[in-house]
Amino acid sequence: MPGRLQHKAALITGAGSGIGLESSLLFASEGANVLLIDVNVQAAEKVQKLIAERYPNVKSAAIKADVSKESDIKAAVDKAVELFGRLDVMFNNAGIMHPEDDNALNTEERIWDLTMNINLKGVWWGCKYAILAMRNNPTDASKGLHTGGSIINTASFVAIMGAATPQLAYTASKGAVLAMTRELAMVHAREGIRLNSICPGPLKTPLLMDFLNTTEKRERRMVHLPMGRFGEAIEIAQGALFLASDESSYITGTDFAVDGGLSSCY
Ligand code: NAD
Repeated sequence: MPGRLQHKAALITGAGSGIGLESSLLFASEGANVLLIDVNVQAAEKVQKLIAERYPNVKSAAIKADVSKESDIKAAVDKAVELFGRLDVMFNNAGIMHPEDDNALNTEERIWDLTMNINLKGVWWGCKYAILAMRNNPTDASKGLHTGGSIINTASFVAIMGAATPQLAYTASKGAVLAMTRELAMVHAREGIRLNSICPGPLKTPLLMDFLNTTEKRERRMVHLPMGRFGEAIEIAQGALFLASDESSYITGTDFAVDGGLSSCY
């Protein structure tokens, strides 16, 4: 049976850990050629090695890139096109939650700027260069390949509802990702370029577990989780796979919640 991303090429940011790691493995298992980027290139290289072992029929590579730097993202997108001849899926997933991010009174400007540069500006650069590449995708109807593509931007449930443990810069950055994604989706819809946000709930990944670094903080967050558990990175990757694949061909501009019901509950 052909994979759900057969013949497609994908670029995944923050591919060395958590959601990016699981998405890289899942996309490759569904037939996509994948370029993995991470500021921690050793971590991305480990994931690439696993892909090469498990899925020898797909092409894969890992490179170092900092999503907050425009030149790094341009170079990464150029690399994907050079390696795979096209870019069908851009997963702008890399993000940080800084331990010193706090409420409006205590958050320092440098934490705000660092967070915005990675979580928001990094997504802008990723969208910009992916859109430029997707416009030029060669068409091969026999393989279901066309111009255009799917861009997925990782936001968060905190973009929809306030977090009880304050993280001002993070929450603001993720809210802006939703707004930016909706506008880009409208602007580029007629080019066949779909843009959607994915909004994960709280997950058992290093990002959140390092932030909620005491049992008390984790239990406080757990009270709000309808399913009574933190999510797994693979559960977000499965949502991203749907948005990346042609199964979501009529879906653009959404805030796709994969949060165990958190954003629907009181
Ligand atoms: P993670 O910390 O496990 O992985 C993030 C990866 O991004 C790491 O490999 C890190 O090296 C990389 N990275 C960080 N800064 C980078 C940069 N400037 N350039 C390139 N790579 C960089 O985190 P995760 O939980 O998998 O989070 C992935 C995304 O999901 C983030 O955008 C995060 O905000 C979002 N998210 C996470 C949760 C959660 O509970 N974990 C909830 C909602 C949203």
